[in-house]
Amino acid sequence: GGGEGTTGTLSDDLRRLGFELQRFKTGTPCRLNGRTIDFRQLSEQPGDADPVPFSYLTDSITDPQMPCWLTETNHEIHELIRANLHRAPMYSGQIQSTGPRYCPSIEDKVVRFADKTSHQIFLEPEGRHTHEFYCNGISTSLPRDVQDQMVRSIKGLEKAEIMRYGYAVEYDFAPPTQLFPTLETKLIPGLYFAGQINGTTGYEEAAGQGLLAGINAVLKIKGQEPLILDRSQAYLGVMVDDLVTKGVDEPYRMFTSRAEFRLLLRQDNADRRLTPIGERIGLASSERVRRHVDYEADLARGLAMLAKLRHQGPTLEEWLRRPEMTIESIRALSPDVAAMNFSPRVWEQLEIEVKYAGYIERQEKEVDRQIKTQAVRIPETFDFRAAPQLRAEAREKLSRVRPRDLGQASRISGITPADLAVLLMYIKEPQRLISE
Ligand SMILES: Cc1cc2nc3c(=O)[nH]c(=O)nc-3n(C[C@H](O)[C@H](O)[C@H](O)COP(=O)(O)OP(=O)(O)OC[C@H]3O[C@@H](n4cnc5c(N)ncnc54)[C@H](O)[C@@H]3O)c2cc1C
Repeated sequence: GGGEGTTGTLSDDLRRLGFELQRFKTGTPCRLNGRTIDFRQLSEQPGDADPVPFSYLTDSITDPQMPCWLTETNHEIHELIRANLHRAPMYSGQIQSTGPRYCPSIEDKVVRFADKTSHQIFLEPEGRHTHEFYCNGISTSLPRDVQDQMVRSIKGLEKAEIMRYGYAVEYDFAPPTQLFPTLETKLIPGLYFAGQINGTTGYEEAAGQGLLAGINAVLKIKGQEPLILDRSQAYLGVMVDDLVTKGVDEPYRMFTSRAEFRLLLRQDNADRRLTPIGERIGLASSERVRRHVDYEADLARGLAMLAKLRHQGPTLEEWLRRPEMTIESIRALSPDVAAMNFSPRVWEQLEIEVKYAGYIERQEKEVDRQIKTQAVRIPETFDFRAAPQLRAEAREKLSRVRPRDLGQASRISGITPADLAVLLMYIKEPQRLISE
């Protein structure tokens, strides 16, 4: 929220310890009092009719869902913003760092997309126990009087009262190439960085890293193997690998498009990918483990049935692969299948597993192939600078990132297959290089 003091001395300490710090910026829109919004003029945006629970411990969501409301900016507002740009710290030169590309401020949008005559604004309720509304789309660093004028010129908001004004902030982050994939800093053993300090933006990004950093700190204390998730295993794996390998040149958001194995990283199988890992390291509750074991058992039974039972010749599995068939139509075909009292998630997963088996298998093979070549470990003590056969750029980049295996090395921008071949030789047959 607004009004918090800064913690600059922390940055000073980090710099003194040898960390490199850089600056990013971000902002937030104003919040409105819902009792002063004229909803009759707005278009209602309901949520999903059948919302999918985030947690696998929740069977269904029964609470009534709250809608969002849509309105938009207009020519008058764009003129107002242009006339006041010199008063926006983001534009007057006071703040110069890079902001989040995917949630630009309204002044950014008005300048960059000057031909657009309006921009959408989603009014989102902040919660069940508050009247506050979040104005998604008009994040701003403009002063209060301009925000007041801006809001009152928007359809449905003519009488709206601002409860909290929008603002922008600039903050320090430590380029995350200074981290091992455990999120432990390379500089200070036992010190872990997670969240915005690593140049990411967002609640989920911060929470995910916090979880991994915490897990790895504990595993280190216990003297156990670290937990490093692969890019084919979890979005967390993609994010951490991107951060420590490539670094960031703008606030990092976890988009699905950053993953190359999207057929494997599905929301519907997150528990199948990660619950066994949670169980192994003691982080899955017994309730979660029990549910997961039951779920896997139901799936195995269902798949076996589909593979065995036949209808007019072909197996039910073969029937289900046909584009026009769904798990519902299979249940209509076979009383034996219909008699199974599986949960909706099991039915859905059966359909996904059978229908997409070919594509999923192909991607799994690709992962296996990559894992074999990429898994070759690089010793943590390996001195890239003392490898004269490497190109200067490769020496420089590799010693900065200090990849732990060939896979990570290959993803550093500017590292070529030829560099990897040299590296592989250093690791596997160092005597050949020395004698050359
Ligand atoms: C204005 C604004 C709007 C945003 N809007 C969104 C949004 O709509 N959606 C979204 O997903 N993300 C949003 N973000 C980004 C998101 O809030 C952050 O990326 C995320 O909260 C970062 O979490 P964190 O735990 O890494 O850091 P923080 O939440 O900043 O936590 C760091 C904590 O460390 C404390 N601290 C600092 N120094 C010390 C010290 N020396 N000793 C002890 N404690 C210390 C701080 O007080 C703070 O509580 C927004 C960010 C801002 C600034």
